Amino acid sequence: MADDQPRRFFDPLHQLVKTQYGPEAGASCDICLSKLAGLGGHSCSACNIDLHDACAGYFKETTSFFAHPWHTLKLSRIPHPSASSPVRWSCDLCLEECRPGSFVYRCIQCLFDVHPLCTMLPQTIRSPLHPEHDLRMVPSGGNYCSACEKSLPVWRYVCGGHCVVRLHIDCVSGETTTSAGQGDAAAADATGANGSHTAGRRPRRRTVIAKFLLKTSFRIAVNAATGGLGSPVLDVLAAIFN
Ligand SMILES: [Zn+2]
Ligand SMILES: [Zn+2]
Ligand SMILES: [Zn+2]
Ligand SMILES: [Zn+2]
Ligand SMILES: [Zn+2]
Ligand SMILES: [Zn+2]
Repeated sequence: MADDQPRRFFDPLHQLVKTQYGPEAGASCDICLSKLAGLGGHSCSACNIDLHDACAGYFKETTSFFAHPWHTLKLSRIPHPSASSPVRWSCDLCLEECRPGSFVYRCIQCLFDVHPLCTMLPQTIRSPLHPEHDLRMVPSGGNYCSACEKSLPVWRYVCGGHCVVRLHIDCVSGETTTSAGQGDAAAADATGANGSHTAGRRPRRRTVIAKFLLKTSFRIAVNAATGGLGSPVLDVLAAIFN
């Protein structure tokens, strides 16, 4: 994209400043929530905004998303909780928290919120766990995951044919992300954080989503879903997680 102008909609009040983050920088990107250390970005210190160049370049002011086809979603910033608005926001797709100060895509009419990275998830995917048919992400109620046998959230991948195959987003790759998640929970338990297995079972799904998007077998589907324009974002994530 021949667009060097930091996009105005991220910060309506100020021009974002081009920033090179040092190797020790602790800031993380308010779009993809991943580290900025050693990378180029744009920031506003007054508004506490930090963005990867790749994220600021790829994500637009509005987007349409298959999981909420009725309305256009608008980039919005999650407010910090206050006495007047104590609400904690979460992503309607992956159910993880939307961090205060971070950006989400929101339908203002329906209060539907989704992480920017989650809008890159392909609607249709082919999983090694069920190579016979395409899987489609659909909303549904109840049921258990065909891989990990734990209960499913509303949004899950199901067989597009007529097979009874239903999978978590983070189980669909058939790799060991589930046991990694359990490892995280075990670590949290070991430090005595809390034993709540309903809330704490998959504590770092945003990392799981990022890793999901990076899987070589899925990059083709992700690139198709983003018209190839998401590649710089994937490259940033790859530099952080690989
Ligand atoms: Zn980013
Ligand atoms: Zn600002
Ligand atoms: Zn999400
Ligand atoms: Zn809506
Ligand atoms: Zn599962
Ligand atoms: Zn099938």
